[in-house]
Amino acid sequence: MPFPIVPEAPDLKSNLLGLDRAGLEAFFSALGEKPYRARQLLQWIHQRGVSDFARMTDLSGKLRERLQTVAEIRPPRVIREQISSDGTVKWLLSERGGSAIETVFIPEENRGTLCISSQVGCMLNCTFCSTATQGFKRNLDASEIIGQVWYAVNALADERFGQRRVTNVVFMGMGEPLLNLSAVKPALGLLRDDLAYGLASRRVTISTAGVIPGIDDLAEGEEFALAVSLHAPDDELRSRLVPLNRKYPLADLMAACKRFTGRHHRRSITFEYTMIDGVNDERRLARGVVRLLNGLPCKLNLIPFNPFPGTPFRPSSDEAIYEFQKVTRAAGIITTVRKTRGDDIDAACGQLVGKLLSPSERRRVVQEQLARQAVNA
Ligand code: SAH
Repeated sequence: MPFPIVPEAPDLKSNLLGLDRAGLEAFFSALGEKPYRARQLLQWIHQRGVSDFARMTDLSGKLRERLQTVAEIRPPRVIREQISSDGTVKWLLSERGGSAIETVFIPEENRGTLCISSQVGCMLNCTFCSTATQGFKRNLDASEIIGQVWYAVNALADERFGQRRVTNVVFMGMGEPLLNLSAVKPALGLLRDDLAYGLASRRVTISTAGVIPGIDDLAEGEEFALAVSLHAPDDELRSRLVPLNRKYPLADLMAACKRFTGRHHRRSITFEYTMIDGVNDERRLARGVVRLLNGLPCKLNLIPFNPFPGTPFRPSSDEAIYEFQKVTRAAGIITTVRKTRGDDIDAACGQLVGKLLSPSERRRVVQEQLARQAVNA
C-alpha cells in the first residue's frame, strides 16, 4: 500500500506539526495542561508518524477530544511523485495559497539524504539556478518545512521504497534558508530533538548563498553543518553569478565564515562551487579559490552545472573539473565532485521549480528572466 496522499484540510486550527519542544510546551500550558504532554506529542507525530489524535492512546479521551477541536496535525499534500532510474525520488507538494514546492530524496549505499525547501521560489536570482526563474512567492512556515521531512520519512518506510531511512537532511532545495530563519529554526530543533528525528549536528546541513547576518545568527546557536555557495573566488565574477554578492562581498563573507568556524570548534564549512563551462572553471580561478580559503577549516564540493531548458550555460567538461580539483587538492583542500543524481526527473541541484511547467513554458520563463537581467546589468 503506498503511503496515503493526504487530503487538504481547512486552515482554521493550529497545526502542531511545526512546533518544536518549546513551542509544544507553550501550547499545552496555554491549554492548562502539563508540559510533559509536549514530549508525548513529539513522539507520536515525528517518531510514529501519527497525525490523528484519536490514535494517541496514552492521552486521556478528554484531552484527545479537546485537541481535535483546537488543533490538527496537517502534513503537506502530495501532488506528484517521480522516481528516477537511479532511485532518487522527487515529490511535488502543494502548500497553502496554491503554491508548490519540491523535496528530493537521494539514496546512497550507507545513507539517505533528504533535500528540503525553505521558501516558495527564491529572491536571490542566481543566474545559473532554475528556481530563480519563478521569482519569490513566500516563506514556508515551520510546519511546511518539517512537513517535508514528516512526509518523506513515512513514505520511505513503505515496502515499495524498501523501507529507506532519512539519515541526513540538507536545506538545498528551493529558497534561501537564512532568509527565513524564524521558520527554519524550529524545524532545525525538531530535526535535532531526540524525541523527534534525533539527527546528529553533522547530519543537518544549511546551505546559503552567503547571507552574513544569518551565518552569524546560526553561529550563536546549536551546531549544524554549514555549506556556503561560493561559485567564484573574486567579487566581479561572483556578483554576476550570485547577485547577493553585491550586498555581502567575499571579504565580509569569509570573515563571517571564520567567525562561524571559530564558534563551532573549528568545524569545517563546505564550499559549493557549481562548475560552468568557460565561466568559472579555469585553473587560475582554482588558484583564486585556494588563496581565498587559505587557513579556513573547509571542504570544497564541485557541482557540475545541471542544465535546464533555456539556460545559456553548460556544464564544465570532466577534464576541466579534474584539473580544477587537482589544483585545490594539491593545496591541501579536501575536494569532492558531486555526482549528479535524479536529473532524468529534474531533481538535481538548481533544477527545482516547484511548478507543473512544460519544457517550452520553462524555456519562455528563463528567457524572460535573462532579458530582465540584461536590462538590470
Ligand atoms: N539558497 C541556498 C540553497 C539552495 S541551492 C544556496 O544558495 O546555497 C543548493 C546548491 O545548488 C547551491 O550551491 C546552488 O548554488 C547550487 N545550484 C543552483 N543551481 C544549480 C545548477 N543549475 N546546477 C548545479 N548547481 C546549482
